[in-house]
Amino acid sequence: MNIIVCVKQVPDTAEIRIDPVTNTLIRDGVQSIMNPYDKYALEAALELKDSMGAKVTVLTMGPPQAKEILKDAISMGADEVALISDRAFAGSDTLATSHAMVAAVKHVGDFDLILCGKQAIDGDTAQVGPEMAEHLHLPQVTGATKIVVDGAKVLVNRDNETTAQTIAIPLPALITVARSEKEPRFASIKGKMKARKMEIPVWSAADMNLDVNIIGLNGSPTKVITVFTPPVPEIRSEIFNEEDPQVAVDKLVEKLLEAKIIAR
Ligand SMILES: Cc1cc2nc3c(=O)[nH]c(=O)nc-3n(C[C@H](O)[C@H](O)[C@H](O)COP(=O)(O)OP(=O)(O)OC[C@H]3O[C@@H](n4cnc5c(N)ncnc54)[C@H](O)[C@@H]3O)c2cc1C
Repeated sequence: MNIIVCVKQVPDTAEIRIDPVTNTLIRDGVQSIMNPYDKYALEAALELKDSMGAKVTVLTMGPPQAKEILKDAISMGADEVALISDRAFAGSDTLATSHAMVAAVKHVGDFDLILCGKQAIDGDTAQVGPEMAEHLHLPQVTGATKIVVDGAKVLVNRDNETTAQTIAIPLPALITVARSEKEPRFASIKGKMKARKMEIPVWSAADMNLDVNIIGLNGSPTKVITVFTPPVPEIRSEIFNEEDPQVAVDKLVEKLLEAKIIAR
């Protein structure tokens, strides 16, 4: 069984800084980690590898420093990794990112299952996985909490707000992961040594025969006009502490009329 896991390097903080001029994420000088949901996806892949045997290939698109999370993946037990990196990818929105990741998947070749995280904790759109499934014409399930491969199909548990579902889909398929059955494992000494020695392959757009019109700024139909923190509304309160409740209600109604919250 061949499993591909897509992982993204994200800032290790909820404090995302935005360049006010370019409206893009400021990544410099920010400590980075593997997106937590992607770590669950990798753990889910490694659990399948442990239980039934599988080759786990981990892919990330990002700048050269994104190699660090690929080394983490190798340390945890992934078999192969590749960094998708090229200046042509700069400014990619989720659609362009999904095209680049699909090209990388095709460059890997054979696969039975693609696992992504449910969402990235910086961009938070939860779009890349479903977009990849769409381009590859694959069945997909989002927000998985348990994955069981049963012959040519895969059983996926997912939680909604008030219900839980188990969905069966045929392989090959794409699943986005909300959590794995076990917490993500720690790196092993053997894995760390393998990661230290490993030359991480870097694939450019040309390596993957990728049309540069569907990636980067050229391939990004979404344009960020501006990014800002909304002002916190000023909350004023007034207490109508009248002896006669009717007077208090009349005063309240007057205030609501004044503020145009209700009409006469
Ligand atoms: C309108 C818009 C404009 C943007 N413009 C820019 C820009 O100019 N410059 C810039 O640097 N960023 C930009 N971004 C951010 C960039 O598009 C996102 O980081 C990227 O598309 C992934 O989206 P996301 O973070 O919401 O991931 P999600 O869709 O939430 O991620 C879901 C899953 O997809 C997989 N995944 C996502 N991204 C990657 C990746 N890079 N490698 C491997 N797997 C991945 C992971 O498994 C992840 O858990 C922009 C985003 C938007 C929405």
